Amino acid sequence: MAPKPETLAAFEAAKGFMPLDEGLALHAAAEEAARLGLPLIEIGTYCGRSTILLADAARGAGVTAVTVDHHRGSEEQQPGWEYHDPEVVDPEVGRMDTLPAFRRALHAAGLEEHVVAVVGRSPQVAALWAAPVGLVFIDGGHTDEHATGDYEGWAPHLAPGGALVIHDVFADPADGGQAPYRVYRRALESGAFTEVSATRSLHVLRRTGRGV
Ligand code: SAH
Ligand code: MG
Repeated sequence: MAPKPETLAAFEAAKGFMPLDEGLALHAAAEEAARLGLPLIEIGTYCGRSTILLADAARGAGVTAVTVDHHRGSEEQQPGWEYHDPEVVDPEVGRMDTLPAFRRALHAAGLEEHVVAVVGRSPQVAALWAAPVGLVFIDGGHTDEHATGDYEGWAPHLAPGGALVIHDVFADPADGGQAPYRVYRRALESGAFTEVSATRSLHVLRRTGRGV
């Protein structure tokens, strides 16, 4: 079921990098995966735009969405780079801090109680994680180091039938960086995943085998 108008309004009002069509595909994948009764994991919270959609699906199924970010921004979001937003700099610290905007967005959406936000580096959090999960959404750092770390840290926790969703997958280097695409290829080549859908750069895979 598509999100309610007020949820979509909160999504549209949140800062971030998730277009509506890809967001709806993420939401559909999350609703299906949430039926497993296991937590939904997001790597790359930023200001909570995609988190709102995962949280809405989590609410519907009575599970929890867990979103992981150090909140200091990716390489391309730092001052002087293409995706920098001066509004999310903490003037006292002189560094990016997207946590306040995230908390405001989640509050506005009325979804706080369905989300656990973890502030930290993805590989460090993954190393502490031991529970099976129903969905892993990889939308964190776009260098090979970060994207590979997200895959290696989180994909092994996916339950059978769980969803691996990867954003910013571009087969053509002219369209964007290749690290998420390489992770997507690697997941398919592992034999552990089958592709379910693709909505522009958002690819949904299902865990159908072992290995990862
Ligand atoms: N999902 C968001 C966009 C995420 S942008 C949306 O819908 O708008 C990518 C985010 O990943 C940034 O906030 C950045 O701080 C975070 N990030 C990058 N590398 C990370 C890492 N290694 N661990 C945790 N967070 C990371
Ligand atoms: Mg993205």
